[in-house]
Amino acid sequence: MKKAYNFNAGPCVLPQQAIDAAIAALQDFKGTGMPVISVSHRSKEWEETMNECRALWKELLNIPDNYEVVFLGGGASLQFLYVAMNLLENKAGYLETGVWAKKALKEAKGIGNAICIASSADKTYSYIPKGYEIPKDLDYFHITTNNTIYGTEIKYDMDCPVNLVADMSSDIMSRPVDVSKYALIYGGAQKNVGPAGVIFAIIRKDILGKVSRYLPTMLDYRTHIEKESMFNTPPVFPIFVMTETLKWLKGIGGVEAIHKINVEKAQLLYDEIDRNPLFVGTAAKEDRSIMNVCFVMAPGYENLQDEFLAFAKERGMVGIKGHRSVGGFRASLYNACPKEAVQALVACMQDFEKLHK
Ligand SMILES: *Cc1c(COP(=O)(O)O)cnc(C)c1O
Repeated sequence: MKKAYNFNAGPCVLPQQAIDAAIAALQDFKGTGMPVISVSHRSKEWEETMNECRALWKELLNIPDNYEVVFLGGGASLQFLYVAMNLLENKAGYLETGVWAKKALKEAKGIGNAICIASSADKTYSYIPKGYEIPKDLDYFHITTNNTIYGTEIKYDMDCPVNLVADMSSDIMSRPVDVSKYALIYGGAQKNVGPAGVIFAIIRKDILGKVSRYLPTMLDYRTHIEKESMFNTPPVFPIFVMTETLKWLKGIGGVEAIHKINVEKAQLLYDEIDRNPLFVGTAAKEDRSIMNVCFVMAPGYENLQDEFLAFAKERGMVGIKGHRSVGGFRASLYNACPKEAVQALVACMQDFEKLHK
């Protein structure tokens, strides 16, 4: 089979162990004689998987007892709406650190009074705003911890005087998180914990039931908490693969262990970007993401962009083209991206340098 170094931003590389388990479960799910995509979601075998998935989330992130985890369809983009519908009564504040943050704010504005507290749009979202004040009268403050397109990241759990809501689509499970600092954490699975088709939401239960608007049954988090994410047919296959991905993560030592590796991988690539005269990083150094590494050709070498893309492609690099809105290059180094892939990319950049210096 062709070997590819997969740096795609999402859907992303997944551990081989999870892929193998998925293939096996498509043949025969837990000895039922049926593929996992045909078993009843009310069967005891499926319920077991659902419970295992929830338990892995709670264990890996050390989620306190006053939180619930739900798994739903609709993507992180629909969660932008869920958050506002379920939590916005008087006023909500958003930190605008990229396109996803902006889209989250847009959805909230359609529901009620949502304001931008600080933005880094002035410099193409290349940094995380600092020194802003969070008003005490907000129902919640919304952040996007990792900005997938621009390669910036809030790498710590901030203190927040109001309920803190975080879109962690692209850095969930990449580092230990103090869940107790957040009222709600959500994201799409397809960036770091599974295939596309399922979202996770970690919800502190006391924040719900405080809004006066009518909540359609499907858009009410309480429905899905009460029915343990089985109010309607859950996205069975994505949840299965996510469960296997989390089993893999637990097997290699959990979020502490993977965080060490992630930091090493990112450092390796950032060091090369900083050393290699042909390339330059686009994110402010102190805000650099350990998940999505963004860079461009250095001044004077801009005309080599397409040539480098072709050169890298020839060597098996997949998905390093930057997002269409920013150009350049982006290497996504999610949990399942092996260190060898990063080493191969670094070697590729060094060989390209030799060709052109
Ligand atoms: C990809 C992404 C989204 C959108 O996810 P969908 O599941 O495609 O709706 C939202 N937020 C962030 C930070 C992302 O990276």
